[in-house]
Amino acid sequence: MKKFVFATNNAHKLEEVKALLGDKIELLSMKDIKCSADIPETETTLEGNALLKARYIYENYHINCFADDTGLEVEALNGAPGVYSARYAGEEHNSEANMKKLLHELEGVENRKAQFRTIFALIIEGKEYLFEGIVKGEIIKQRKGNAGFGYDPIFVPEGYTQTFAEMGSEEKNKISHRAKAVGKLCKFLHTL
Ligand code: IMP
Repeated sequence: MKKFVFATNNAHKLEEVKALLGDKIELLSMKDIKCSADIPETETTLEGNALLKARYIYENYHINCFADDTGLEVEALNGAPGVYSARYAGEEHNSEANMKKLLHELEGVENRKAQFRTIFALIIEGKEYLFEGIVKGEIIKQRKGNAGFGYDPIFVPEGYTQTFAEMGSEEKNKISHRAKAVGKLCKFLHTL
């Protein structure tokens, strides 16, 4: 059976991808390969950070692997917070503070268009591949809903009236940026 490491410390993401991959591919966690590193995300693009994490695993553990990075890109802010989404309001990675800062930056701004973008970087036998998933939408003026995480309470996907935080995770996972990128990755892995 083909084996891949998913370079994430997020158990929830690991389970989500495991379920999508099915039983023809064995998915290992960082824990499974005894890697306890918290790989610093020092690049300035989502692609760069996803590759950085995958390369760390490939170079140190010599095993095929993939890693992801996601950002919220707001049109009126020239793509910010983008790759800095998690630490927009500081290194504490505080979602409430991040949303507050974003709403403040957009005060009085008409154009509320935004998108979540996820990149998965895959390395097989040293060869690198990138997969992208995008969900377009808009940033509303006041937070709505309590589910999800990150910027979910202020993001309404295109064609919907509810925020990601008002949708159930099942509905969100059908249309999300991450689901789209993982879908492409899985399709590719199943053709190998
Ligand atoms: P990560 O690369 O998946 O860790 O995502 C980086 C940051 O983007 C997170 O800390 C969140 O602030 C934001 N983010 C990523 N995915 C989502 C999502 O599905 N909903 C809301 N915020 C998200």
